[in-house]
Amino acid sequence: MRKISANYVFPISGKPIKNGIVCLNSDNVIVDIINPGDSFREVQNLERYSGIITPGFVNAHCHLELSHLKGVVSKDTGMAGFISEIGQFRDSYSADDIQKSIKWADNLMQSRGIVAVGDVVNSTDSISIKKTSQLFYHSFVELFGQNPQLASHIISEGIKIKQSFSDAGLVSSIVPHAPYSVSPELFQEINKVVSNDTISSIHIKESNQEEQLFKDKKGELFSFCKAMYNNVELNIGKTTDSLDYISQFLSTDINLLLVHAVFLTSEKLKQLFNTYNQNKIFVVLCPLSNKYIGNNIFNLDDLLTVTSNICIGTDSLASNTDLSILSEIIELSNVFPEVSLEQLLSFATINGARALNIDSLFGSIEKGKKPGLNLIQGVNLLNFNLSASSKVTPLIKSY
Ligand SMILES: [Zn+2]
Repeated sequence: MRKISANYVFPISGKPIKNGIVCLNSDNVIVDIINPGDSFREVQNLERYSGIITPGFVNAHCHLELSHLKGVVSKDTGMAGFISEIGQFRDSYSADDIQKSIKWADNLMQSRGIVAVGDVVNSTDSISIKKTSQLFYHSFVELFGQNPQLASHIISEGIKIKQSFSDAGLVSSIVPHAPYSVSPELFQEINKVVSNDTISSIHIKESNQEEQLFKDKKGELFSFCKAMYNNVELNIGKTTDSLDYISQFLSTDINLLLVHAVFLTSEKLKQLFNTYNQNKIFVVLCPLSNKYIGNNIFNLDDLLTVTSNICIGTDSLASNTDLSILSEIIELSNVFPEVSLEQLLSFATINGARALNIDSLFGSIEKGKKPGLNLIQGVNLLNFNLSASSKVTPLIKSY
């Protein structure tokens, strides 16, 4: 049995434990959590660290498939520019280069203390790495298309990809890309393949260009989409808000991850709660990706007035320089210093685990769970503040 201790253990399921000791069996399952009180005492075979211990991190939004675009896409392009550059560069690499960079990104996440990932896919490229990875993956097979005539073809291609994941023993679900890229017909096709255990995820309210596209039916993203779909009128009806647009098509009793949510307000979210099971809606924030693309930052304080279901995503290496959940919450703590470390860590662990339906194993330090353990150093232990020099070392990586 391993016994691991640090200045504080943050179990997430309860208050921080000073000098707490986490006991694990040889399968890395937690068998006990000891609270020694103020007086730290020597225990046989104790591994003692300076810093705080947390559960492994959950990355609720990534695109492993885009890892080869690290440093390739320009910064501050805005949304249309970003999508355009991805399209321009995505396919100009060999299959071997793509595999190598997926493997590299998978290793990078492990070294950053991530144990589980919600990963968006458009192909089967990531299957071979995911099959042997120590990380848990839920893959979101992402579909897009504005042409109603192509909806049935697009869904059948998506079903084939999902089947390849299932054949490899990997969990996946079919999801829409974003409000401006999915026609009502394609939404309806996606709904037909939804079952109780489906988890849905969508990029939403990510940029002011998306807001403008819906509100004024113009702007850079509007023109970009029109050109991409051969000048066909965008099939978004008269709706002036992207959340209103998707609300018409949502299956209301499955986990739904609203990714980015830069322009999401508490008022808008509350409206959605009228028709959708509030506990199943998760807002996934990707602050460093927003910064990279040149999008604004969300209003976290406002969102927290109506929900605590906030998760963290790194997005892909096409719009981030690292895949580090710790770096994302350090950024949050800089912009929103009033949010406590306990709360930031719940975003980084249990909330993502609940969103991905894996909280029976992941997300908190509790008996019977196998969440992985991280040591975070460079935390001010008097006021529990993170700083730019905070760093994470995974102590237990595997689940
Ligand atoms: Zn994304």
